[in-house]
Amino acid sequence: MSAAPAGTEPGFRDSVDLMSNRAVAHLDLPRGLEEKIRVCNATYTVRFGVRLRGDIHTFTGYRSVHSEHMEPVKGGIRYATSVNQQEVEALAALMTYKCALVETPFGGSKGGLCIDPRAWEEDELERITRRFAYELVKRDLIHPSQNVPAPDMGTGEREMAWIADQYARMHTTDINARACVTGKPLAGGGIAGRVEATGRGVQYALREYFRHPEDVAKSGLAGTLDGKRVIVQGLGNVGYHAAKFLSEEDGCKVIAIAERDGGLFNPLGLEVERVREWIAKHGGVRGCPEGTYVEHSALLLEEECDILIPAAMEGVIHQQNADRIRAAVIIEAANGPVTALADEILRRKGCVIIPDLYANAGGVTVSYFEWVKNLSHIRFGRMQRRQEEARHQLLVDELDRVLRKAGLDDTLSESFRKRYLSGADELELVRSGLDDTMRTAYQSMREVWHTRDGIEDLRTAAYIVSIERVADSYRTKGL
Ligand code: GLU
Repeated sequence: MSAAPAGTEPGFRDSVDLMSNRAVAHLDLPRGLEEKIRVCNATYTVRFGVRLRGDIHTFTGYRSVHSEHMEPVKGGIRYATSVNQQEVEALAALMTYKCALVETPFGGSKGGLCIDPRAWEEDELERITRRFAYELVKRDLIHPSQNVPAPDMGTGEREMAWIADQYARMHTTDINARACVTGKPLAGGGIAGRVEATGRGVQYALREYFRHPEDVAKSGLAGTLDGKRVIVQGLGNVGYHAAKFLSEEDGCKVIAIAERDGGLFNPLGLEVERVREWIAKHGGVRGCPEGTYVEHSALLLEEECDILIPAAMEGVIHQQNADRIRAAVIIEAANGPVTALADEILRRKGCVIIPDLYANAGGVTVSYFEWVKNLSHIRFGRMQRRQEEARHQLLVDELDRVLRKAGLDDTLSESFRKRYLSGADELELVRSGLDDTMRTAYQSMREVWHTRDGIEDLRTAAYIVSIERVADSYRTKGL
């Protein structure tokens, strides 16, 4: 999958700044505060050696802290060969704006390790991860109250469990040790619903967008999500869950999936689950009978569709291909998939872009719930679930009695009874909290979009909401 050709447009870091500058132009911030918000506070680079396969291998890693207006700072750790300082800083900045937009009480941070995770065995990856974590923990760049990483591209529950354990070994008496990282497996202090949280957030974001016909009309679309043609780029954790939920629960038709080794096209709709199974078994989409194989998968982004979901990496929609994109709506499930120049071209074409800092905020939102769970040392719902059920039972019994007394033997339906009687477990509470977060954040963006002069797009509106919140936080506490 090709990113923006090198040298033809601003880099990722500058691209994020260009986007935030567009918002700043609409704000009346005190001199100097704008710069304070924009710059990255610090980036730590570490080079460490690990003895593997009889040789010493040196790895380069980063942890960048963009803004500490709230602490801990928050953001994932990425494993990829493309990781570099500029990328990590751009991603850290996005975390600041994202957390502010969805009101998770964190500053922004991001980490990365320059590595191809597929090139190493599991035990080797564990040693590399623990060594990287050691370097960050000893500088408080992993810490429950200072800096809390999470999964990102190339990492997942497994890596987070190693990091949590490494921290615990180095802080044996810290009762809050588990809160030093989120995205852990359930058995290791994680929370139900975190794995699919970002994809679920993309679904909730789209549902909320489609609740506003006025906003939908701006893209030239109408109606509901039902029957909408979707193209997804990247069937990793985020793309897979978003595509699965949208097709299985909202009636969307996933007509194309673009992957690393090629893509699949099927105007009648692809079975996301089967494609995922095929990739797991064969290492790529080639040969998958679900759709027509397309070697140059970047071309699939240019197919006509209603909703395009870039869910892989930054810069895949750039100055060179933006004009050929024919999607009515782009929802940025990845961070930075549309460059600043492409954004301009697409805006002129009337394409509505649901921006990354909102669209993929489901991950950090559920990370927030996990962090709170770790600090409170109790599963959500444990205290109230059965009490809630007992109160509902009382009401149902009373209704039954009244209905019977009135001579109506056809009482409450079984399905109502079942749904009403069951108290919410952790997963349901997480979903409800995520849904509420995505709805509230959308409404704060759309209010700016519709009520302030000269705001053309959701991205600028999102940045305005975020930057105002960060600025308020600096104002109240003083610099
Ligand atoms: N890596 C994810 C992101 O880019 C999640 C961050 C987190 O949960 O802290 O938003």
